Amino acid sequence: MKIIQIHNWGFNIPNQRPILISGPCSAENEEQVMQSCLGAAKQGATILRAGIWKPRTRPDSFEGVGDIGLPWIKTAGKLTKLPVTIEVANTKHVELALKSGIDILWIGARTSVNPFMVQEIAEALRGVDIPLLIKNPVNPDLELWIGAIERLYKAGINKIAAIHRGFSVYKPKPYRNLPMWEIPIELRRRIPDIEIICDPSHICGKRAFLQDISQKALDLEFDGLMIESHINPDQALSDSAQQLTPDDLGILLKNLIRRKPVGDNPNFLANIEALRLDIDNIDSEVLELIAKRMEVVHEIGKYKKENGVTILQMNRWTEIFDSRVMKTIEAGLSKEFAHAFIQCIHNESIRKQTELMSSELSVNKT
Ligand code: PEP
Ligand code: MN
Repeated sequence: MKIIQIHNWGFNIPNQRPILISGPCSAENEEQVMQSCLGAAKQGATILRAGIWKPRTRPDSFEGVGDIGLPWIKTAGKLTKLPVTIEVANTKHVELALKSGIDILWIGARTSVNPFMVQEIAEALRGVDIPLLIKNPVNPDLELWIGAIERLYKAGINKIAAIHRGFSVYKPKPYRNLPMWEIPIELRRRIPDIEIICDPSHICGKRAFLQDISQKALDLEFDGLMIESHINPDQALSDSAQQLTPDDLGILLKNLIRRKPVGDNPNFLANIEALRLDIDNIDSEVLELIAKRMEVVHEIGKYKKENGVTILQMNRWTEIFDSRVMKTIEAGLSKEFAHAFIQCIHNESIRKQTELMSSELSVNKT
């Protein structure tokens, strides 16, 4: 994929990191869009956002003002000389957005989850030169996210960036949507050219977490942030708890620590090189040990097979689980890591023994 990066989309976006997309969750009235967007621009927003059609979970919520809001956000863009972006979820939205001269479109999480809808949007955009921001699907499915990006790309759109807005879970805690940072990191590994914007607002769901999640995104080398801001968040018709006033947006930005991607200090580079060599060696040793463990697992598997014994003995597994978790925690690692680690090793052991049990090897042949 040859993806064109945001600074080459033809807008006057200063070459700074992070790129900041801000503005209200929803356009509510002309005055609110104007004040919110002008406020966000004053604090350093480089792209303005507002939702015109809102995908709401429950039917009686505010579902956006609809197309009467299009000229409001467009005027905010003209006054601030900034590009503006809105969410589109179907062909009608695309047509209206293009007709009003909206600069950038975004595909929301509830749309990127649905290949029919993404394809419909892609077809409506075939031959149109407009940038697209593609949010991750609501569920943690990287292939679906990549699939949405590919559908747009195949329709001829090459000004594409991704937005990471977290993944929904039943009873989310403490966040509204879990960040699962490994998924956007893997997206970047799979499509190295793609720029990724983090949307802390929809990850957090609450103002109190926004600073930390924004900082984490910068520390993980995200290219930008999409943060909802509203002139009067407490009165907002959608996502009231997570929106910031323009002043608070300014404070959040001021408090962000901007670290460099690579140090240019030769001492730092030499030291980090040596430490990374240590990590490489330790990883090889860990892998060799795990492979050795799996050889023993294989031996046990053969023995169980010869004796007609089942793969899983619950009391042995409980004993292993408890003792290894305790040891891992004693070694200063987290309980979550301890659980995931021992479960992962055990799953691979079971997989190996299952393979052995169902293989052609008969008792006589072994
Ligand atoms: C939004 O950005 O206002 C929005 C609806 O986001 P998401 O698609 O991430 O839920
Ligand atoms: Mn919102």
